[in-house]
Amino acid sequence: MPAVDALGRPLGVLRLSLTARCNLACPYCLPDGQEPPGLLSLQQRLQLIEAAVSLGAGSLRLTGGEPLLHPELERLISACQPLRSSGLREIALTSNGLLLSAERAQRLRSAGLDRLTLSLDGSTAASVAAMAGLVDGAAGARALQQVLAAIEHARAAGFNPARGALKLNAVIQRGRNRDQLLPLAALARERGLELRLIEYMDVGNRNGWQASEVVPASELVHTLHQCWPLEPLGRAGHGTAMRWRYRDGRGAVAVVASVSQPFCGDCNRLRITADGIAYTCLFAAAGSGIDLRPWLQPGVAPMQLQRAMADLWQRRADRYSEERQQASAPAMPHAEMAYLGG
Ligand code: SAM
Ligand code: SF4
Repeated sequence: MPAVDALGRPLGVLRLSLTARCNLACPYCLPDGQEPPGLLSLQQRLQLIEAAVSLGAGSLRLTGGEPLLHPELERLISACQPLRSSGLREIALTSNGLLLSAERAQRLRSAGLDRLTLSLDGSTAASVAAMAGLVDGAAGARALQQVLAAIEHARAAGFNPARGALKLNAVIQRGRNRDQLLPLAALARERGLELRLIEYMDVGNRNGWQASEVVPASELVHTLHQCWPLEPLGRAGHGTAMRWRYRDGRGAVAVVASVSQPFCGDCNRLRITADGIAYTCLFAAAGSGIDLRPWLQPGVAPMQLQRAMADLWQRRADRYSEERQQASAPAMPHAEMAYLGG
């Protein structure tokens, strides 16, 4: 029975974070150096996925921190395959790509991963170093090469960008990498990848977010349009990205405008952290999540977990991104991005 929240929004996507740790330290994200205590086991993660699927989540997004740091990632993906007959339609992964060797890409594909989104915020050694929190240009050059290689490994493993199975994420932040917008778009176009430009979001507290550093979707699209004329494709229902087609036929580009044009109205995403805390909004206040571990203990029936998750979804009335635009929006400390899983 699909769960529907207090604002009539059905559950559709489970974003499951596998780790809060990362091998990068992007200043706009700034993950913790260590895991929270009480990490879930593979079996507990499967129980959560199964419950979410039974409540209507047809899409599973594995994330982090950096999910490729997780040693059981492939096992988890394989173990999810039987859920396809219960309504699981797709399994996707978001990664910075540094650890995506040719062999790992192949293993992920063989395990049953459908889609892969890699993140890259610059096209030069210096910009990658600055955006990824690396010590110097040499480290930036290595990271850039690794991500470019990862794109080709993913393609070779069968993640076909023409079918939407391989995409590139980039955060554009004013004062840091605004100059990388066109080079990144060119890089993606040359490789046949859809670039998803993400507005810099006020998730977490450590990044010192300032509205002035957000490059709004309208500006991103205007700049791209001047260079390569665009036609709107719109935003799919429950989707995060507004898409545009390049008029010259060289694919599409998308913008995730969570700050300037919020899409809370049909948001269908449930987030669960690596230690089993459920959050019903990316912009949730720190500590406001619901601990699901009591329902993941031996002897607790799957039905009880399902009921607990259905209850929390039915109570959900979050629409922070829309409220942010109102003067009365409450100021609160946010949970961190790498912990929530982006
Ligand atoms: N480590 C992986 C990666 O970087 O792709 C997965 C986790 S990361 C939290 C998921 C996505 O969130 C990345 O594309 C990252 O660029 C984006 N992100 C992180 N912090 C952000 C922020 N403050 N605003 C907008 N996007 C952010
Ligand atoms: Fe790591 Fe991804 Fe956060 Fe960058 S955005 S620090 S790669 S979790």
